[in-house]
Order: sequence, then structure tokens, then C-alpha cells
Amino acid sequence: MKYRSVAHILPSARMQMGKISIRQSLPTERVSQISPFLLLHHFGPFQAQPGEDPLDIGPHPHRGFEPVTFLYSGGIRHKDSRGNEGILRGGDIQWMTAGRGIIHSERASREFLENGGVMEGIQLWINLPKRFKLEEPGYQDIKSDQLPILADPHSSAQTKVVAGTYRGVRGPARTFTPLLVLQIALGQGGETEVEIPPGFNACVYLLSGNAQLNHNFEYPAGTLLHFRNDGDGFSLTGLEPTQALVLAGEPIDEPLAQWGPYVMNEQSELLEAMRDYQMGKMGFYID
Ligand code: MN
Repeated sequence: MKYRSVAHILPSARMQMGKISIRQSLPTERVSQISPFLLLHHFGPFQAQPGEDPLDIGPHPHRGFEPVTFLYSGGIRHKDSRGNEGILRGGDIQWMTAGRGIIHSERASREFLENGGVMEGIQLWINLPKRFKLEEPGYQDIKSDQLPILADPHSSAQTKVVAGTYRGVRGPARTFTPLLVLQIALGQGGETEVEIPPGFNACVYLLSGNAQLNHNFEYPAGTLLHFRNDGDGFSLTGLEPTQALVLAGEPIDEPLAQWGPYVMNEQSELLEAMRDYQMGKMGFYID
């Protein structure tokens, strides 16, 4: 395999979001997006006492993209303006299509509030092309046991296929544009070679541990590695137990206009989104 070289090493910056501290590795001052990926927030691990909600994110709108939550540990209850309610447990994924508009809240589940524990996850924003921005909103609740797991022979590397087809195995997430999303777990010394389809933008986020890339440099947890489109893929070796999230996809070559929770193509569409929200066109939701 000809390895892709690294275009940007993006260490995540600690940020305050409401009352929680998160790590943001996308966007950064240097890289505004890795199309179609717009934003990557890593929250936790938070150790919570019973009764404590480390998230407690109240109702807010979204339009024009897909917010995806990968819960690694803990429990989240999602509710939205279209009457959907869902519970995520550790290992589950919620793949939401905000489309033309939805209002939702993200809070600790009742089970988590009763028992306390560790809450950790990733929120990822994936852009939609103009022709899909005003789609009907919806969401896919992907349970941990729906994710196919591929084990590398002779190595303690396990790969869960979330979206796209990898080594002939298809992930459960339905997507509007071609994507490849993988969750990789490496034991110490575990190694895997990740093939990326030609033409896809690609990056890998290291959630925990410490890994060596392409048998060369090593990077700590909290780093997002953004690749050039100059090879077939990359290799990752765990120098200790390591978790990584691989994000790759066909770039969306369109203008980007973004304000807060809205991602559109033109400024005028952002104003329209704000107006539609005020007028209740994304629904009404009080939690
Ligand atoms: Mn949200």
C-alpha cells in the first residue's frame, strides 16, 4: 500500500461549551473543514455521580447537515421536535439528518442518572450537498450490536464498520454522499492497514492511547491527522491500547455558509433558517 502523507496535524483545543469542557479538533484556525466533515467535538471522559448530568444540552435547532453522536461510554436520552425519543448506550451511534430543520435536546439517560458512571463520546457534523440540505429530518439509531466487527489476523486490531463498505463489509448507516466511517480499537502492538477509496478526503482522530502512523511518527490521544489525497491509505500501530475514528468521504465542492447550528451555501439561506426557526417551521419543543 502506498501510504497517504499527513497534510495537517491538528491537536484538539479544550473549549467550554455551556457548562461542559470539550476538545475540538475541527474546525481549527488552520483548517475550516475536511469536506464533508465540518466539526469534531470529543466530550469526556467525565466521571459523574448519581444524579449528575455531564451533558445537559437543552433544546436547540439544526439545519442543512447531519449531526452524528458516537457514544463510547455512558447513556444519552435524545428528544426532538418531531416526537422522536431515543436512548443511546455505550457503543451506540445516533445518526441524525437535520435536513430542513429539527430541534432537539441531548441529556443523560435515566439509567445513567440513577447509576452515575463515565460519559464519553464524539459529536461529528457531516455536511450535506445543496440538493439534500432541505430533506425531511430524521434519524438512525444504530445499536452497538448492529456494527459489523472485522478482526485483523495476527494482530489485536478490531474495526467496526459504521458507514460505507470496508473489506467487502457494509456498515449500517445510510448516507447521502459516499462515506467511509470506521471505529478502530488497537491493543498494544496491534496494527491495521486502512484502505481509503481514491478521491475521498480522509482523516483519523485518536480518542485514547498513543499510535504510530505509517510505521513512522507517533501521535498522542486528542490528535486529528488530516491526510493528503496522495496514496491508497495509511497504517496505524497501537503503542498502547488505542481507539481511533476514521472519517473519509467524497468532498462536497460547494460554497459554505455557516452560522451556529445552521450549515448552508449562501448567507441568505442562513437568514431564512433563523426566520424559519423563529416562525416555528422547525417545530416547537419544550423539554
Ligand atoms: Mn445538537
